[in-house]
Amino acid sequence: MGELVDQGLEAIVAFDADLRVVLANDAACQLLGYARDDLLGAEAYALVHPDDLDRAAANVVGISKGALPDPGLLRIRRGDGSWIHYELRPRPIRLPGPPDGPGDLTALSIRDNTMEDAHWLFLAQVASGADLDACIATFTTGLTSLVDGPMSVTYETGGKRRYSGALPVELAWPDPVPEGSPWGRAVLTGEPVSCPVEELPDHLAAVATSIGIESLVVVPVLDPAHKTPALIVQGPYDAAMADIVMIALSRRPKDALTIALERRDAMDRLHHMAMSDPLTGLANRTSFFETLERLSGSRTAYSICTIDIDHFKEVNDSYGHQVGDEILLVCARRLAQVARAGDVVGRLGGDEFAVIHVGVGASQAPVLAARIVEALNQPVDVGGFIFDLGASVGVASTGDADHLLPDDVMAASDAALYSAKRAGRGTWRYAEPDPV
Ligand code: GH3
Ligand code: MG
Repeated sequence: MGELVDQGLEAIVAFDADLRVVLANDAACQLLGYARDDLLGAEAYALVHPDDLDRAAANVVGISKGALPDPGLLRIRRGDGSWIHYELRPRPIRLPGPPDGPGDLTALSIRDNTMEDAHWLFLAQVASGADLDACIATFTTGLTSLVDGPMSVTYETGGKRRYSGALPVELAWPDPVPEGSPWGRAVLTGEPVSCPVEELPDHLAAVATSIGIESLVVVPVLDPAHKTPALIVQGPYDAAMADIVMIALSRRPKDALTIALERRDAMDRLHHMAMSDPLTGLANRTSFFETLERLSGSRTAYSICTIDIDHFKEVNDSYGHQVGDEILLVCARRLAQVARAGDVVGRLGGDEFAVIHVGVGASQAPVLAARIVEALNQPVDVGGFIFDLGASVGVASTGDADHLLPDDVMAASDAALYSAKRAGRGTWRYAEPDPV
């Protein structure tokens, strides 16, 4: 982090240890719209928007403890009283002068946050792998200060509709969406819609009027992972601006959001591919053991059933791999049906499966093991042939004296599976010592 040298072009404000302004160069006075005398002596926090104070304070504390500064957008009060987003970069500065002079100061270089900056910042954040919800939140606050009227983005995450921005939520995405409304039309047609406030349903028109907006612009953005598009919604203060706002939102903001949503979809698909078994779609070995580690870290009780299909090799060798695969698929489906909500069903390899029964201890686990044996002992019909295979199951639980770590529970369950095989297959065994 280099020291800051005032070259005149960059807006610089410096603070003493009490966070009072002791230096503001011409560029800063011009950018923020203050006479220098009005800035000098001002308290730093008095210039920051109340909603941004926590972030600003956390950054100041972090820097004082040696953390790297977090360059970010903060709303700063301009000389005319308005709040504008500026990009602030904190840096140390050393002023020449007498030994009893101000010495080391914290300085901020301040940049106007332009429309283009807001999009670049958003895309750079998204590309760095930051959480999409957090990126969209920065994006909407960043843009809101730059556009004519409050804006918002609504989109889906984890099956829920989320909302971010300065527009009241009932205008961003009313629930339920009124039929024939601008939101409904935008979702239906995939085209941007603008609508004067008077044409909104009465209760929504009242909300819009109370915040001084004259129209509503809704721009749909296709979300490859969800049926409903994301919506960028803005309420221009002046109805005459609606068409211009619609064109503006349909360009950069729409493009940036499209890229972000497509990237999220691609990352989710890659993650799914890395974590699931391609044949059955169940959790793969990696994902299964990651879940086990997580559960163990959270000290949740669980039981593991390990399952191996009986005599599978014979069928596979006699009828071919394809028939073998079909049988494995049927077994996977039956396991998924038998599992309770919250259980994790995985294929560990070949004809070996496993189920983590979350929250189930030694007393209940045998019931579940018996249910699995029963489900897999039903004949399998593949391509007109009926296969009577069955499966053997080993079961072990956390909480038994020797089975506290995931590896121990897994090893105990495996050992129990081999007991079940030795006992003649088509049955289950509890890990030694058997509590039942
Ligand atoms: P046991 O009753 O002792 O379990 O005997 P088994 O015949 O089932 O033998 P084992 O479990 O050792 O054999 C598993 C076989 O599964 C071996 C291999 O040919 C077959 N296999 C492994 N992966 C796949 C796969 O992806 N698809 C198919 N169709 N077969 C597989
Ligand atoms: Mg087998």
